[in-house]
Amino acid sequence: MKYSEIYKYNIAHNLCPFCWLPESFIIEKTEYFFVTHARAPYTDDHLLIIPNRHVVLWNSLTHEEIKNLMDLVTKWTAVLHKKHTDIALLLRDWFIWGSWGKSVDHMHFHLIPDIEVWSIKWCWPSREYLSEKILLKKIDDIKKLEKKRTKSTAKK
Ligand SMILES: [Zn+2]
Repeated sequence: MKYSEIYKYNIAHNLCPFCWLPESFIIEKTEYFFVTHARAPYTDDHLLIIPNRHVVLWNSLTHEEIKNLMDLVTKWTAVLHKKHTDIALLLRDWFIWGSWGKSVDHMHFHLIPDIEVWSIKWCWPSREYLSEKILLKKIDDIKKLEKKRTKSTAKK
């Protein structure tokens, strides 16, 4: 299934997919944010870090939330480095009707392994929307990667 179809459905029904994300799709949840695997990934192991509350703009975040966000970026970048080299952090701020391609109002941050940032606009139209089965498998793989990192951190 193509993500563009899901996107059209969400817009038509005024649905925020991040406010209704099933618990099983959440890899980690803190007081302020949750981490999930992108349902329409740009690359393999593409993660999203999303505020628990529905906010649209970066400036809506408190200092406490930003501190928590940075802790999560640090942790999950280290996890992804177990398998990937370059990791891009992308803030998706502003409303969906902005200049290009933001598909969910709810502010979110992408951790994208192995991507040249200029190329996002080229892969956007052909993004696959993963089946629940494949998404849960990918979430499981990421959790295993995290365990690997936790073990190697404990050795130091
Ligand atoms: Zn939302």
